[in-house]
Amino acid sequence: MQIEQEEHIPDVLALAEAVTQQEDWKEALDSVLAVVRSIFLFDNLALYLLNENPANLTEIVYARAVGRGQSAGADAAWGVETANQVIRQNQFILANPTEAGLAANRLREPYLLGLPLRNDSGIAGALVFVRFGGPPYTPEQVQRAQYIATQVASLLERKTLKEKLAALEDARRLLALQDDFIATISHELRTPLGFIKGYATTLLRQDAEWDEQTRREFLTIIAEEADHLNELIENVLESARLQSNTLPIHLQPLRLDALLKDILSRGKARYKETDLHLELSLTPLVLADGVRLTQVFENLLSNAAKYAPGAPVHLRLTPKENACLITFADSGPGIAPQHLPHIFQRFYRVPGQGGSGSGLGLFICKKIIEAHGGTIWVESEPGQGTSFLIQLPIFHAP
Ligand code: ATP
Ligand code: MG
Repeated sequence: MQIEQEEHIPDVLALAEAVTQQEDWKEALDSVLAVVRSIFLFDNLALYLLNENPANLTEIVYARAVGRGQSAGADAAWGVETANQVIRQNQFILANPTEAGLAANRLREPYLLGLPLRNDSGIAGALVFVRFGGPPYTPEQVQRAQYIATQVASLLERKTLKEKLAALEDARRLLALQDDFIATISHELRTPLGFIKGYATTLLRQDAEWDEQTRREFLTIIAEEADHLNELIENVLESARLQSNTLPIHLQPLRLDALLKDILSRGKARYKETDLHLELSLTPLVLADGVRLTQVFENLLSNAAKYAPGAPVHLRLTPKENACLITFADSGPGIAPQHLPHIFQRFYRVPGQGGSGSGLGLFICKKIIEAHGGTIWVESEPGQGTSFLIQLPIFHAP
């Protein structure tokens, strides 16, 4: 017995190493499997986890056939009954075939060994070894298999912890963004409100006379700031509706090239400092909500004017596979790579940059494009510029 134990110390070490070495839990299980195969013989191994759906006690999450050629489909079927039994009884189960069964077809009645996978809160699932045609598992092998099961259970525990940590991290990031958002939005709302109040109070002063030109100037500022405020409030409301999928979108066939030409002429009038270009290499019909799609391009244009001031902006419409691709490229300062994965998130703004904004524009763009069955993404090279790319399905009239 002493010799037997010493013989297996390397296996125990190899197993512990296999459990901790790989980042991905399935890859870790593959490594565990490679070690386990050298400890004892089996043909299939399957891992079942307790199911949240009460109609099905267990759910197969991992299966490998290593021995006498079984299909992955069969893997799950072999072990499910044993796995359920293990979970119900919370103990290991040995199911050996009957003599008659063995004589009839050794593939139909395998030797099954099911082991509970335990965690802090009880039983998490079952590990089932399948052997076709024996030999039967010895008590010593059952003991080893139990050790393997504790290792697999700790691997699963690690996976669950990691998932919980990632979810917590996401929640924390969103909370931080929301905190920032409240600070940003109150600043954003106060600024135009301050202008409106200030200029209106000035105009109302009884002790001063204003000539017509000054009056008009002040009133124009008031009107512009009120528009700005309105836009901001619209954005906040819209992003909330998009988040909860309650923003109505009315799709109808429209000519994308015509819509882009319209955007161009409006953009030229609105952003006089921006050098805007349009290149069209196709004239596709798309199924779209014109108002919403216009909003996307206006958000991108306002970003280019804000974050790449004075830089030329190129709008291109080109074919891509069976879809069309709209490229919106500026040659501004670009966006550092660590911010790229976040800029479509609600409230996200690149820290430390100038310009006013609430971090809602790109979130709104993404939601609208997705509601059109399309995709939007960003490519950027610091110092070279930023491109927003939109792929939209082409509509073929029936
Ligand atoms: P809002 O659009 O709600 O007024 P915003 O412009 O800050 O506010 P988004 O349009 O969602 O929000 O943009 C998110 C961030 O992405 C911006 O704050 C900016 O940091 C960055 N960004 C967007 N477009 C560009 C661009 N063309 N060049 C460089 N940075 C950009
Ligand atoms: Mg914006």
